[in-house]
Amino acid sequence: MMAAPERVAAIPAQNCSAARWESNRLRADSIAAASALVFVTVPSFYIRTPVTMPVMTKEEILLARSEFLFPAVFHLYREPLVIERAKDQFVWDADGKEYLDFFGGIVTVSIGHANEEINAAVCRQMATLGHTSTLYATGPVGELAKKLAEVSPGGRLTRSMFTNSGSEANETAIHAARLFTGHSDIVALRHSYHGRSQLSAALTGNQAWRHSGTTAPGITFAHNAYCYRCPFGLTYPSCGVRCAHDVRDLIRTTTSGRVAGMIAEPIQGVGGFITPPREYFSIVSDIVREHGGIFISDEVQTAWGRTGSKWFGIEHWGVTPDAVTSAKGLANGLPIGLTLATNEVAQAVPPPTISTFGGNPVCSSAASAVLDFIQQHALLSRTEENGQHLREGLLRLQSKRSLIGDVRGMGLLQALELVTDRTAKTPAAAETTALLEAAREQGLLIGKGGLHGNCVRISPPMDIGLADIDEFLLRLDRAFETITRH
Ligand code: PMP
Repeated sequence: MMAAPERVAAIPAQNCSAARWESNRLRADSIAAASALVFVTVPSFYIRTPVTMPVMTKEEILLARSEFLFPAVFHLYREPLVIERAKDQFVWDADGKEYLDFFGGIVTVSIGHANEEINAAVCRQMATLGHTSTLYATGPVGELAKKLAEVSPGGRLTRSMFTNSGSEANETAIHAARLFTGHSDIVALRHSYHGRSQLSAALTGNQAWRHSGTTAPGITFAHNAYCYRCPFGLTYPSCGVRCAHDVRDLIRTTTSGRVAGMIAEPIQGVGGFITPPREYFSIVSDIVREHGGIFISDEVQTAWGRTGSKWFGIEHWGVTPDAVTSAKGLANGLPIGLTLATNEVAQAVPPPTISTFGGNPVCSSAASAVLDFIQQHALLSRTEENGQHLREGLLRLQSKRSLIGDVRGMGLLQALELVTDRTAKTPAAAETTALLEAAREQGLLIGKGGLHGNCVRISPPMDIGLADIDEFLLRLDRAFETITRH
């Protein structure tokens, strides 16, 4: 492959995002352009920022991907989608095709791509102080930690530890739980996903993400509250929430009887947005505490208002956890991991500990700006209202499309479970893959999940409008039409 020649251009721009737009336009204009020197103006600064924009064609990108990335890095779609740029609820591919993004880079773009307020905060911070490591104190970390303590569940989780990803946030929480309780056993849930590191993969209850087999001892898996496919063959509410009460038996039969804690997603994300009944978490958290453990809510997908009306998913169940973990949507796409815990749990972790990138000033500023944006635009209540509108539309679609076996989720975290036969509930995995392809054709991005790969995951930015939801429903219906015709 030949390296592309280079060109340098000077572009005055109003802010970072404008500069990116402009440099993208230049890229498209000139096949020869390989890098652009961009002058960026932010409100009180004048920053001269060289931005390297290597130019590769779509074919070169795909070739480089197949030759130089770990083959394990998989992409959605038969032909990987090469995304070139994005703004608000839209992304554009390398051929200039526009898509309505209802997956948000896996539930991560909380408030729209290239959000101007977040970009301004990032640019301002980047120009001021880009990196320190946790060895030094900075304003952005102090400000973010204070804000998090203010919004934390029950106002009780006042201590933050910042890292780089959800996997690391969960590692930190388990470490703290073991130190705090002096016990080692952890209860996790079947169908869960907690990350790709060795420990977080060992906490994950889905074979697809456990390639190394069992690498960490001391983890026991409870049945999850999967009402559509009840592991006990029962029906809610006459089941008496058997799956929750079974946690007591699980602890007494598979552990020493004393546990460090339980980790659970309020709504299982990768599992296909499996949403437990309203009694579930108070029952299991009480059982775990009775046996000496703490309750950790993995909010990597469910935090920051995504489920509507509450900052954290677990708040819908009326439970105050001892720790929550988060990542994804907290900084709208910039890498960040958060373990938020009670003072007592945090105090149990002895010094020293360090994270080179944890609490990066730029990512922390972005996260603070995301929290401000959510507050200023009343996105908790808006997400609840928009989520209701989306849910009603999905239920209408279910009455029309027999492939849709179940509609579930909360707020703007909604899923469809597809089945080829509603009585036998046979997972429609091939049809789900075909639906994703058909949606792509319709200019719509949606996600996939579930143990059988038969769930459609829907998680648009939380600042979308009703018209976007209606357009989404229209395109999704057309995608269903295409796959049922063939
Ligand atoms: N927990 C949950 C609930 C997740 O959905 C994910 C990511 N899909 C993780 C943890 C791991 O996060 P990361 O990919 O940032 O390590």
